[in-house]
Amino acid sequence: MAFRIPFNVPGLAGDELRYVADAITRGHTAGDGVYTARCHEFLQRELGVPRVLLTTSCTHALEMAALLLDIQAGDEVIVPAFTFVSTVNAFVLRGAKPVFADVRPDTLNLNEEQLEPLITSRTRAILPVHYAGVGCEMDRILEIAQRHSVAVVEDNAHGLFARYKGKLLGTFGCLATQSFHETKNIICGEGGALLINDARYVERAEVIREKGTNRSRFYRGQVDKYTWVDIGSSYLPSEILAAFLLAQLERHEQIQAVRRRIWERYDERLRDWAAGRGVVCPKVPPHCQHAFHMYYILMPSLECRQKLIAHLKQRSILSVFHYLPLHLSDMGKRFGGREGQCPVTESVSDRLLRLPFYNGLTEELQDEVIHALADFQE
Ligand SMILES: *Cc1c(COP(=O)(O)O)cnc(C)c1O
Repeated sequence: MAFRIPFNVPGLAGDELRYVADAITRGHTAGDGVYTARCHEFLQRELGVPRVLLTTSCTHALEMAALLLDIQAGDEVIVPAFTFVSTVNAFVLRGAKPVFADVRPDTLNLNEEQLEPLITSRTRAILPVHYAGVGCEMDRILEIAQRHSVAVVEDNAHGLFARYKGKLLGTFGCLATQSFHETKNIICGEGGALLINDARYVERAEVIREKGTNRSRFYRGQVDKYTWVDIGSSYLPSEILAAFLLAQLERHEQIQAVRRRIWERYDERLRDWAAGRGVVCPKVPPHCQHAFHMYYILMPSLECRQKLIAHLKQRSILSVFHYLPLHLSDMGKRFGGREGQCPVTESVSDRLLRLPFYNGLTEELQDEVIHALADFQE
């Protein structure tokens, strides 16, 4: 069913077709050509990260992180129960046992105060997810992780260019991952990146990304033939996607400015409406500069949210809920997940609603959404 106001419309920045055409004309459409190199340089420079590697998805960047950390069967990783399945599944693929932590009721981020009791002698990694591009409490998370010698891998799929206490998200953990899926801020259809903040992982990351071979060293002339040196897979995207992505990255300031306007306009116009109805708007702590990734509201109950979804749908406006609690999924239950284990996650998962949010959402269309909310009778 087509909605007059959809939830997401992938936005074009302008140069995508030209760059893609150029990539094709150059005759090098496999990975790691000039466009990939330019994306790497761009992200390394803008983020100040020693090494960035484009991947075919954020999911694959997370899988690379699990391989780089040498996650073995029986190892434990601490993940928020309120996240996308890939944050967890990438580590479960290596045999890890996920340990689900609840989220904070204000930012819906991993609750750092509940972390420590979950750490055991088998804990290998903590996976903060910067929900909606609002930074997790990284000072406390890093302090706990360091004290227990546990790695921190940030799932920063929502938070490219956002900051916590002035520092860019994705630069805190030894590794961090980005997504360029068409639902994110900066897109190339399907794509991602691994940010390597701890230079010790660079060489092995290049090998893992290239099917377990030292092809990257070969291309740089550091070895005279390339061969199988480690485990790995094929995690590098085609130049066609890298060309698309570069066109987006180069316009990131404009894209972020547009998204900022949309986010702030929702926020200004909905705060009073929300306060009078027991609806909660997003909380952004003063020390966080967020990424303007989404605008969500928390309704008083599941019933109320479902009614609002139906109300908006009648006006051809698509609004959507978000993650189902991972600990209560079929897989989560196999790892011991049970009801009541993460009460905040269980509650917000029922009540959260995401409003239409995309670069092409004009003020007129946004006003229609806002007026439709104002007209909502429970
Ligand atoms: C979108 C998303 C992913 C997965 O990204 P892909 O690029 O589609 O693999 C992982 N984690 C979070 C938090 C996401 O929002």
